[in-house]
Amino acid sequence: DREQEGPETLDFDPFEFIDANTDNNTIGGYLRALAAKPHIGGSLEDEITTKNIVRTAMEEAGLTIKETTYNVLLSYPKREDGQRNYVALKDSSDNIIESSKSAEVEEILDDTQDDPLVYNPFIAYAKATPAEGLTADLVYVNYARKEDFIRLEEDLKIDPTGKICICRYGKIFRGNKAREAEIYGCAGLIIFSDSADYAPEWTEPYPESWWLPGTGAQRGTTYLDNGDPETPFYPSIGGAYRWDREKVEKYGAKYDLPGLPNIPITPIGYNDAEKLLVAIGGDKAPEDWQGGIKDENGNVIDYNLGPTMKDGQKGFMFVRTTEERRDTTNVLGYFEGTVEPDRYVILGNHRDAWVFGAIDPSSGTCTMLEIVRVFGEMYRKGWRPRRTIMFASWGSEEYGLIGSQEFVEEHLTQLTASAVAYVNIDVAVGGNYSLSTRGTPNFEDLMFETAKTVDNPRKVEDDGAASLYDNMMLRNAKDENGKLVFGGVGSGSDYAPFLQQVGVSVCDISWRCDPHYSYPVYHSVYETVPLVEKFVDPGYKIHQQVAKFTAKMMAQLSQDAKIPLKVVQYAARVSKEVNSLETALNNYPSNGVDLTFLKQYANKFTKAAADFQAKFEDATDAQEIKRLNDQVMRVERSFIDPNGLPERLQYRHVVFAPSSKNSYASAAFPAVYDALFEIEKLTGYYSYSEILLTIIRKGEEEVTAWEMVKEQVSTLSFFIYNAAEALKLSV
Ligand code: GLU
Ligand code: CA
Ligand code: ZN
Ligand code: ZN
Repeated sequence: DREQEGPETLDFDPFEFIDANTDNNTIGGYLRALAAKPHIGGSLEDEITTKNIVRTAMEEAGLTIKETTYNVLLSYPKREDGQRNYVALKDSSDNIIESSKSAEVEEILDDTQDDPLVYNPFIAYAKATPAEGLTADLVYVNYARKEDFIRLEEDLKIDPTGKICICRYGKIFRGNKAREAEIYGCAGLIIFSDSADYAPEWTEPYPESWWLPGTGAQRGTTYLDNGDPETPFYPSIGGAYRWDREKVEKYGAKYDLPGLPNIPITPIGYNDAEKLLVAIGGDKAPEDWQGGIKDENGNVIDYNLGPTMKDGQKGFMFVRTTEERRDTTNVLGYFEGTVEPDRYVILGNHRDAWVFGAIDPSSGTCTMLEIVRVFGEMYRKGWRPRRTIMFASWGSEEYGLIGSQEFVEEHLTQLTASAVAYVNIDVAVGGNYSLSTRGTPNFEDLMFETAKTVDNPRKVEDDGAASLYDNMMLRNAKDENGKLVFGGVGSGSDYAPFLQQVGVSVCDISWRCDPHYSYPVYHSVYETVPLVEKFVDPGYKIHQQVAKFTAKMMAQLSQDAKIPLKVVQYAARVSKEVNSLETALNNYPSNGVDLTFLKQYANKFTKAAADFQAKFEDATDAQEIKRLNDQVMRVERSFIDPNGLPERLQYRHVVFAPSSKNSYASAAFPAVYDALFEIEKLTGYYSYSEILLTIIRKGEEEVTAWEMVKEQVSTLSFFIYNAAEALKLSV
């Protein structure tokens, strides 16, 4: 029921128009332009060249353009000789014997990489080492997850305090690795890409395939909060008060720039990692901590734990990464809605890239620009969205969702009143495995149903699976009833500020390379147009179908008289999570946590949602539909706790938040589970132990922890109650 409002002369169907006019060649053209030069956040290339490509495309489509610039804290490594970051080994006489390559491209694999604008791999906001560098024993800490450190200390009896810890990339957001390393007292952290994950043995890396070469390393931020680190909660526009690191140290801040790391951190590739790992002595690490890096004879090396090192060697880090305030710009383009100009539907992606960014973010941006172009053509032919559509190109996402968070801080009131939905398209095509759709639960039907209307570009590889939906059925996870699992969002891209600050329903669209991993060249210099055109998506056929899919979703969100988001699906998901929580709590006899009200309010929400849905479906009166639409929008707002989650004030959504152990992952009922985790920590990691529990119950800590759980269950219950109330017309 795509009811169309607009000029009566409209003589085409938008879905058909999108299918017929979305063009793979223009998408390729956009990508080649966007990824021609390195354009890191805050750089001239991003602020001028890449921004102008986006702006020009928006202007050509007839959008009204607005640019907003914020002065924000970014971070860069030094490029001068003698100042470049590196890691090394020292012999027993304190001489450097093996040092990592100072450039990622040892051998230029294709000429686009030979660009003076490339910054060598670095970790944004890493602390600098002392001028003479940091010398210490190395300890191998697996993925540097919380559970790895607990195991290291408790089972393996190794104290990482004061050591340089070395861990592999993967499983969790690197910012959480940095945070855990810091909590466990590491003096520095080296993060490497393991060949087992980034270049399995049966393939030759790029330029033979899309796997990561041994010189490649993953850049990235370790900042755990979002937005400009110095202006938490408020936009960094004129007059903004700044909390820099020095001020925080001197006066103590209300908000302790909490998400920035305080230790030196460096990323390296598997060639350099091999040299460091073989120097580590001590016990061999557990079987599941072993990786796949090979020595020069082709044998997989042993990963030892340290901290003893062979032949009295030492690990060494030299980090000169420094923070700088720079301008970063968002480019926003609007088609004003005809019937509801004060209701916004947003499609957004960031523009900044660690290097060329042919996949992250430009696969998303070239797809978005194609949608802008197609919508521009429809607009010229008389199509008008009922609601205002906003296309957003965010600055400096890679540092910590800076442009989008600042925008949200600047427009909090307006977005709270007016934002209907936010659709994110960052890594639109990371590989050729399958379409991944995730978001807040009310997006499920819209995404799955729209996926049924778009042809599968991988039809041949997928044994004839005809639609995007069929591709997903074939390749993605299903639940016990054979239904596709609809995933949730944590953090990791620009949807997070919308969901966490404002309570806007969000979704994220990405054609993935593998169900578990990010694509191998992620955040490396090898993320180039030649790699995309040779291996990821020759001919841009996947991009083309993702563009159609996204365009159709945007068309429905902006033109359907009734907002196509389903509150009943939200309620169903909340009930499911309540059941899971009950099961989890059953592991702890007599914990005193009472779920009566939580269950009662979840039922209340379910009932209110069902009644609402029936009324919504029957509604025909324009005024009534407008009122009901606002209620759809308010359900998400209802989950926002203005006080923030405990100790994570920027995250305010009590039903879904980034996991505190892994920002990339979505955690349901985050505050409750975080409180529960404190108990699990006290009772043995991740496994309940009757004996330990008995002992701990005597102590005071466990009581406090259970009180925390009770308090968080109560808070959560209230916000679910709040959502049910939001579905009523009056108090
Ligand atoms: N997308 C960036 C990354 O994965 C930033 C994520 C974030 O700060 O949440 O590194
Ligand atoms: Ca700010
Ligand atoms: Zn991205
Ligand atoms: Zn990225």
